[in-house]
Amino acid sequence: MSNKLILVIEDNEKNMKLVRDLLQYEGYKTLEADTAEEGLRLAGEYLPALILMDIGLPGISGFEAFKRLRASSVTAGIPVIAVTASVMTQDHQKIIAAGFDGYQRKPIDIDEFLEAVRGTIERSRGERSTE
Ligand code: MN
Repeated sequence: MSNKLILVIEDNEKNMKLVRDLLQYEGYKTLEADTAEEGLRLAGEYLPALILMDIGLPGISGFEAFKRLRASSVTAGIPVIAVTASVMTQDHQKIIAAGFDGYQRKPIDIDEFLEAVRGTIERSRGERSTE
């Protein structure tokens, strides 16, 4: 079990509930935002161990929010996994090219999703020399 804090940025209530329930069942703590703007605020304030970023959001997109996270020295080191309904190969490539730490499709595959969450947090810890 892990008590790491994960920020979920997702505007669809059902998806948010599913992800929240899964993460909390695994012992993670969650922070939730239904817009990128709110997500950026929470990321800067709480410095979560991981951010799960929906791409299609009502205000600024997940892509733009990701750029802003990386542009700020406070949040630049937080790993971000894109979570999107898009199954287009082109979009997948765009996500990887943008520098996201990972990519998960909706509807999520539960085992693959949790493995990506665990693995990404572990890799990110390994890269931080202070830990
Ligand atoms: Mn969405």
